[in-house]
Amino acid sequence: MTTKSDALEIQVNKNTNNPDQAWNVLSRKIKKTSCNHLPLDLPIYPDKVRFVCISDTHNSIERMKYEIPSGDILLHAGDFTMNGSLKDVEKFSKNLENLQSKFSYIVLIAGNHELSFDKNCDRNTVTQDPKIYLKNFLYLEDNLIELFGIKIYGSPWQPKFGNWAFNLNRGEEILKKWNKIPNECDVLITHGPPLGFGDIINGGYHVGCCELLSTIRERVKPKYHIFGHIHEDPGVWTDEQTTFINASTCNLRYKPANPPIIFDIPLPEGH
Ligand code: 5GP
Ligand code: MN
Ligand code: MN
Ligand code: MN
Repeated sequence: MTTKSDALEIQVNKNTNNPDQAWNVLSRKIKKTSCNHLPLDLPIYPDKVRFVCISDTHNSIERMKYEIPSGDILLHAGDFTMNGSLKDVEKFSKNLENLQSKFSYIVLIAGNHELSFDKNCDRNTVTQDPKIYLKNFLYLEDNLIELFGIKIYGSPWQPKFGNWAFNLNRGEEILKKWNKIPNECDVLITHGPPLGFGDIINGGYHVGCCELLSTIRERVKPKYHIFGHIHEDPGVWTDEQTTFINASTCNLRYKPANPPIIFDIPLPEGH
């Protein structure tokens, strides 16, 4: 069935290549507020699905300053290695296996550092498929899964910065990827932030993706959007429609200093 919203076409922001300027304009009509972080020792309720979010662990998941608490679903928003070597992916996978008893599911996406996951990246020298190491987990790359009746979509793309994996031009090129996100999506995971939320780099500029923000606000309207990539702006915010979480674990010096971020979604009826 085609709904009105299916047909809704997101337009490229005319300031897309100057995200700081784009936010300057958009922030006048978007109500952005910070949210309290839930305490990591919050009890797990039987009528809720507990999500535990981490990102940008960069070969350091076993050395996190804060212990990863138990939950129903662990989400990792990419950059789990430094360069995606098979050795590092295998080591990461062993570390994830040690966490498996704490969760029903582990869901992850790649980030720009996972060079071996992007077969079109010219810096990718690995011929083997690194995903064989992740077969015990739910690796998402532009696809949707449903867990406990909750729809979760994951995508690794981010606006080009340097020469990395899953880099795309701002505007039309990256919007094509966001157009694949179904309207029906409760939890969206991307590696990079949308414009305006958890996207302020050292120096004070916004670098998030304009087309991702438009897609989220105007079409998909997920309950939660989880990402990382901008290590210096972790936190939780809302625009009164979506809760935005920058779950970056590493700081700018690639030290795993930040705590995981948790949230709960009421268990849908019949689950
Ligand atoms: P990573 O290399 O782990 O993907 O990103 C690490 C850091 O690179 C971020 O915390 C941020 O400081 C910087 N960075 C990432 N993407 C961008 C971008 O698009 N623009 C700018 N100026 N810096 C970025
Ligand atoms: Mn929706
Ligand atoms: Mn990173
Ligand atoms: Mn990154």
